[in-house]
Amino acid sequence: MSQQLSPAPLTPALLTTEADGPGQQALLALEQSASEALAARRPWLLFAPQLEAQFERDATAERVARFRVLGVIALLILNLFNITDRSMLPDIAEQAMTIRLGILSPVMAAALLALYLPGVARWREWILAALVVLASASLIYFFTQSRHPNALQYHTGVILIVMFGNIVIRLRFWFAFATSLLILVLYITGIAQLQHMAPEIKLNSDMVLFSAVAISLVANYQMEYDSRRGYLQTLLQRIEALKLKRSRDELDRQAKSDPLTGLANRRYFDSRLLNEWSRAQREQDTIAIIYLDVDNFKAYNDHYGHQAGDECLIRVAREINASVQRSSDVCARYGGEEFIILLPQTTLASARAVAERVRNAIEAIQLRHDYSDAAKWVTISCGVACCVPRPGDSSGSLIENADHALYAAKSAGRNQVCIHTQQAISAA
Ligand code: GH3
Ligand code: MG
Ligand code: MG
Repeated sequence: MSQQLSPAPLTPALLTTEADGPGQQALLALEQSASEALAARRPWLLFAPQLEAQFERDATAERVARFRVLGVIALLILNLFNITDRSMLPDIAEQAMTIRLGILSPVMAAALLALYLPGVARWREWILAALVVLASASLIYFFTQSRHPNALQYHTGVILIVMFGNIVIRLRFWFAFATSLLILVLYITGIAQLQHMAPEIKLNSDMVLFSAVAISLVANYQMEYDSRRGYLQTLLQRIEALKLKRSRDELDRQAKSDPLTGLANRRYFDSRLLNEWSRAQREQDTIAIIYLDVDNFKAYNDHYGHQAGDECLIRVAREINASVQRSSDVCARYGGEEFIILLPQTTLASARAVAERVRNAIEAIQLRHDYSDAAKWVTISCGVACCVPRPGDSSGSLIENADHALYAAKSAGRNQVCIHTQQAISAA
């Protein structure tokens, strides 16, 4: 028997773990374990501990939901026998009804409700197995207590309960196995007590139940085996898809960023500028740019070496990044030791304030630079430009204006912010 069972969804927490983080290692370990399990085809219906725990977690929601529905159906069917008992076992019908309604039904209902409680879900197989045994035991008890001739037919109901537990509820195989054995022992003991049943009929009844147990366990085993293999295949596909997505994201990130500083690269900046420019044009909104350049950086390189120059650029980039606040702002390395910041929906005054903040932040780290004209440490000059783009204007003009303002800042002695106004360039 091969039944395609819908694979359980994977734990969301696992699928959102950060690449490179501990989650990534757990994911790879899980993948390795799943591949091995798929190849090994072990018959014991038990994965390696980590994989088994994952399998259990992923199966919980679906199984608990199914158990609740099947539990209610079982509860209803069980109580239907309160009607037939009046003719089948008239001498103990009252007692049977009291036990069903007073003990069995409340216990089953309470157990099914308990499945809603956090922490109880992982005991679901134990709970359902106990209910199956309880239902069987009650039935066996009833036919051993009745002295009515019909009691000799009553035992067939146990077959139905075993089938229900093993094939419909689909208890996990080892639970189904233990449950079935226990029921078989109870049944054989109960049948042995029936004084009016001929020995050959007793033996035949025992054999019939034994066969029902064997057949349903084979089916149960096959279903669990198939569902475990299906789970492994789905798990591997999901992990593969996740790895692909992560490498796509990483490639995407690399395509947008500058490898030395980690800021956006020029190409990404240009594309963002185009978008923001169009939006500002459409909505007649302000858009601002800060053009930054490290002062006397050639001298820094020449005296401290290229490596130290690179480290200096990384520090400067870090300060730039930390100084802008809005998620829509874009900080980019525009080339060499030049940086640029795009500030959508920002006025000239605000952009100038940001530029001052960046300039101060870089000065504050006091990265020693003995060969600068501007200070004893690394400084930057900034040019700020802002506009509300008119139809037909190009974004290049905004960069040009910021560049002019930067040039003015350099000319005025470096380590300062200059703004571009419609009339003239002025120091901030
Ligand atoms: P100013 O104050 O007028 O900007 O003078 P400057 O020396 O900073 O300007 P200039 O354009 O003459 O020199 C820029 C230097 O930046 C020259 C180049 O060697 C260096 N540079 C450009 N890119 C990198 C880089 O990626 N790493 C390092 N270490 N240096 C770089
Ligand atoms: Mg330069
Ligand atoms: Mg420079």
